Amino acid sequence: MSTGQIEFPVELVSLLRRTSKLAALTGAGVSQESGLRTFRDAQVGLWAQYRPEDLASPEAFQRDPKLVWDWYAWRREAVKGVRPNPGHYALAEIGKHVPEFTLIIQNVDGLHRMAGNQNVLELHGNIQRVRCADCRTFAETWDDDTESVPRCRECGGLRRPDVVWFGEALPRAQLEAAVEAARACDFFFSIGTSGVVQPAASLAFAAHNRGAVVIEINAEPTPLTAKADYAFHGKSGEILPRFVEAVWG
Ligand SMILES: [Zn+2]
Repeated sequence: MSTGQIEFPVELVSLLRRTSKLAALTGAGVSQESGLRTFRDAQVGLWAQYRPEDLASPEAFQRDPKLVWDWYAWRREAVKGVRPNPGHYALAEIGKHVPEFTLIIQNVDGLHRMAGNQNVLELHGNIQRVRCADCRTFAETWDDDTESVPRCRECGGLRRPDVVWFGEALPRAQLEAAVEAARACDFFFSIGTSGVVQPAASLAFAAHNRGAVVIEINAEPTPLTAKADYAFHGKSGEILPRFVEAVWG
């Protein structure tokens, strides 16, 4: 079905127009529509010999910090070639109309912020930020073309990307705020996410259990589809702008 035929139910449109509390969770599908390959598919060229698990972990960084640093420098370069898509911008637009809009994201590429989204909870961090591996001090600028991994100006520790690696916990404050937003919202959007990676996947169910209307937008059905009040299958970059136009246009 082409999104040209998608009809948004009248009752949904009118309820959304009056909502003041909306939360949305986005995943890999949203970045893919910008042309960014997933973590796994992006392992090409020099990096094809490594599995992401062997590069995105505290153990990998301990073993060979320069290798891990170079991989992230390469991934940041890949992001430079892509731009936010209409779905990213539509979410920023929702933020202008809904007083309490919380955007919960799993992608680390920084595209949501680039599109002007405010109040973003980054569950997995952001590869565009770097912090000290020891004292957590953030660095605003750094040099990717060095012989060795840049060091922290405060304590001399190694700098690392501010992302959540395999085996690491999600940032507690961000996760708690996400759970709180899911429980308090009237509408919860699950967008471009498979609905299988925990704890993010549980957010839609938390919203559902608290009586929120759950809306799924994804390329294909997921484990959430059966529980969602509304499910739209297609590109979020096509469906979201139409949604925004129908409700707030
Ligand atoms: Zn430090």
